[in-house]
Formats: sequence, structure tokens, C-alpha cells
Amino acid sequence: MTEKAATLTKVTRTVFGTRPAHVHLDPDTAQKWECNSPYCTEIELPHPDNGGPTPVVQGYEPWRR
Ligand SMILES: [Zn+2]
Repeated sequence: MTEKAATLTKVTRTVFGTRPAHVHLDPDTAQKWECNSPYCTEIELPHPDNGGPTPVVQGYEPWRR
């Protein structure tokens, strides 16, 4: 443990582009996390890394593919 790079926790990205983000509250961990999917309807939502659904990114909607 001599060379320690900046600790970077790998988490699923939930903010894409310049669309304004909103803050979710994870009901299990009480953690707040930002996301800017236009399709969210619930504020209380687990983070994708904590069992929540992956937010849909505008322009990459699975139903458009
Ligand atoms: Zn959201």
C-alpha cells in the first residue's frame, strides 16, 4: 500500500448530459443520489447499485430501439 491512487468507487452513473438533475432518497440506506432521467416518478428510489432500477436516459429509451 505504497502507491495509493485516488479512491474511486465504481458506481452506476445516473447523470447524463446537461439536463438538470434531481435528488433521490434511497429508502434503504437513507443516502441521497442525483439522477437526471426525465422518466422518474418517485423520489424515494434505491440507487441502481443498491437494487434500484437503472434510470432511463433521454434519447436512449429502450422502447425506442
Ligand atoms: Zn431520477
